[in-house]
Amino acid sequence: MARVLLIEDDVNVRAALSRALTKAGHLVQAESAALSGLRQVTAATPDVVILDLGLPDVDGVDALRMLRGISNVPVIVASARRTETDIIQLLNAGADDYVTKPFSAAHLQARITAVLRRRESSDTLDAVIAVGPLTIDQPRHTATLDDTVLELTRREFALLSYLARHAGRVVSKQELVEQVWKQPYIGAEATVDVHVSWLRRKLGETAAAPRLLRTVRGVGIMLSDEYLSDEAESSR
Ligand code: CA
Repeated sequence: MARVLLIEDDVNVRAALSRALTKAGHLVQAESAALSGLRQVTAATPDVVILDLGLPDVDGVDALRMLRGISNVPVIVASARRTETDIIQLLNAGADDYVTKPFSAAHLQARITAVLRRRESSDTLDAVIAVGPLTIDQPRHTATLDDTVLELTRREFALLSYLARHAGRVVSKQELVEQVWKQPYIGAEATVDVHVSWLRRKLGETAAAPRLLRTVRGVGIMLSDEYLSDEAESSR
């Protein structure tokens, strides 16, 4: 169940989506214009916002920018615009996802679930995480490996923290670009590769002889201590 704020001026679409999302167990609040919607972002603190781009009072992209000025709430944009340029512009303006009109309520429901899953809670972001010999103290912005403090840049720390929060799972480069770089995934793969290799060097390992950081070809990167015990065993 999520608190959904639906900003949509078409009365039929608004009614149909409200009904379907309520039926799916969400608490839905609907607004018909950008400014009243923005007021509700602060007043009702929704878990997710569905923002129609064709609103009567404010241009959709401007509305999105205004919303981003006041809140980090996940936003799914509903739009009839569909060129790649449009989508890039939306993601740059702070949309978490988009659906192209016309879409079904079931499709929107799936996007809502995905966006909420991706959005991490502040509890997770404030935790001290240990992965084998590696400890990441997120509130203090420090990482230690075998009790030695690692000298990491801001980006390397953010990357390592993200991988640590999802330790044991292969994280795709696309997810890293979106979640760590907060950018749309357009040709940024090389950037991820470069930062991973820098991070790997600081962890004292190589791609050929990984310990904690593993590249799964064609899939992504995983931080895990699950191979350390095998290593200890085989060197015994
Ligand atoms: Ca509209």
